[in-house]
Amino acid sequence: MVKRAVPGPDIKHFFPLIKKRNHEGKKRLGYLEEIAPDFHLLHAPLEGHIPFAHSILLTGKRNILIDTGLGPETVQWLRKKFDISLVLNSHYHRDHNWCNYLFKGVPIKAHTLDAPALNSMKVYFTYMGIIGRKDERLIRRETVKFIPHIQGPKVGTFGDGDVFDTGSVEMKVVHLPGHSPGHCGFLEPKSRTVFSADICCDSFGPWYGHECCSMEDFESSIDKLVDIDPKVLITAHTPHLKENIIRALQNYKAKIEVRNLKLLELLKEPMTFKGLLALRPLYSHIIGELKLPFSFWEEVMLRKHLARLTGDKRVRKKGRLYSTI
Ligand SMILES: [Zn+2]
Repeated sequence: MVKRAVPGPDIKHFFPLIKKRNHEGKKRLGYLEEIAPDFHLLHAPLEGHIPFAHSILLTGKRNILIDTGLGPETVQWLRKKFDISLVLNSHYHRDHNWCNYLFKGVPIKAHTLDAPALNSMKVYFTYMGIIGRKDERLIRRETVKFIPHIQGPKVGTFGDGDVFDTGSVEMKVVHLPGHSPGHCGFLEPKSRTVFSADICCDSFGPWYGHECCSMEDFESSIDKLVDIDPKVLITAHTPHLKENIIRALQNYKAKIEVRNLKLLELLKEPMTFKGLLALRPLYSHIIGELKLPFSFWEEVMLRKHLARLTGDKRVRKKGRLYSTI
């Protein structure tokens, strides 16, 4: 049988980001780290920076994998070593599931609200909010170049509170919406270890750059994690935390208000949306000149901030001009 060649992501595309984080050139296979008995963290290549994302492997009478954004080499290595009987996806973003296509014949599940975007590219682009835009084709092209969007097997569903069991270890689904409607974390109750996926406590997030994202839900989800009070917090793109977790989560949530304050400062001078966007107020300080899809994300996030600030009567809109009240 001739194997279809599958393109890897264009790693060079990420160099500005990776360089900024001093990880340039650290391309390698992922590796397993035992967090608790039968509970493993699968470190992704490039230390989990996009296009890769860390995964969780639960072992026992059966083996369960949470997320597949490890890249084909790591997934193929994993599949040789472990008989995976179930794959769970934390949410629909491709950096967390772009190797689902290597799990034909294995059941794959995601939250009810995100599974439709995993099963249809049309829904995926609808969730992004690009359908009908003048630059829809361009954003589609750059998005697919950014991370391979290979359609995997059909994804079934799970819901908040569902428990998945390997016979040795249990994982409970914790619905943490905001980053996406069906974004989920997973709690191992005995060790109070949480895999919080893209609630990452990193410098890039909180991220809510698709139309279907909700800043307000994101804040509530961080509060939910604080209430769980994890002893270990594993995220998809950053090193896991064993101490100062509550403070890290609170600081992460506070970044949303820091962004609001930055916008309020800029809007002391009345500005159109286009004028404000041209300043790239949310991400330019992190990655310099913004290209697609980053520039699209920034646009969506800026709209959400302005909607919040006008709703809270901290910003007024007169004609096309926004200004601080
Ligand atoms: Zn994500």
